[in-house]
Amino acid sequence: MSVQQLQDGIEAPKQFSVFQLPVHLCEDYTSWLRSRLLQNCGTHVVTLNAEMAMQAEQNPPLAAAIAQADLVIPDGVGVVFYLRLRQQFQRRCPGIELAASLLEIAGTEGEDYPIAFYGGAPGVAEQADRRWRDRFPSLSIMSSHGYLSDSEQVNFQKQLQEKQPKLILVGLGVPRQEYWIAENRALCPNAIWIGVGGSLDIWAGVKSRAPRWLRENNLEWFYRLYQEPWRWRRMLVLPHFAWRSLVG
Ligand code: UDP
Repeated sequence: MSVQQLQDGIEAPKQFSVFQLPVHLCEDYTSWLRSRLLQNCGTHVVTLNAEMAMQAEQNPPLAAAIAQADLVIPDGVGVVFYLRLRQQFQRRCPGIELAASLLEIAGTEGEDYPIAFYGGAPGVAEQADRRWRDRFPSLSIMSSHGYLSDSEQVNFQKQLQEKQPKLILVGLGVPRQEYWIAENRALCPNAIWIGVGGSLDIWAGVKSRAPRWLRENNLEWFYRLYQEPWRWRRMLVLPHFAWRSLVG
């Protein structure tokens, strides 16, 4: 685990654990990652939620991928609930919002921050890329869908190595994106790598996020279930997570 205290007065995230997995507590994840970006400190960010934590218990390679990440943020309300029960009053940090804040920084600060979007069905990353560049024309984004053949994948890895993006957003779903980042992060050792799940779909307009009132009432998971009913089986672990949080 390589969370470092930085020189410029930004407090380093403090490590805590959720069922043997790390989670990092921080006032302002965006500022911390911005300083990592400025200092070329390669960083793998995992966005932890209850579903992923329960999956990792059954899946040691996923647990290992989370354990080697530099920053694990409390993406889901379940993780925040677990922390509150242990007197850690950390606010939730949705990965999609953290990634969007970094894109806004890249688009407004005038620094040269090449970006990569990888994941989603063909056309999705490209559409997300276009929408972000409509908002911030100075952004330089390379994008690829997430269903590449082996040879296309090798080609994409070569492009990453050549272009050295500073921010690489990988939306392949859990655990594929965590494995992919852990295996490939050496290609761009100075980049911030974040597994963003379905964020590219949302930025492309293919899916929508829960309305604010549902998010503010900790019901984003319910909206996902309404939008993608096939998730019900995966979500059966959530009451189990809540129970274990209470008694564990
Ligand atoms: N995906 C992909 N390649 C694959 C499998 C999935 O690019 O081989 C994409 C899929 O199109 C979707 C995203 O991964 O955009 C998964 O989103 P989801 O919201 O299901 O992620 P999770 O809930 O696992 O974070």
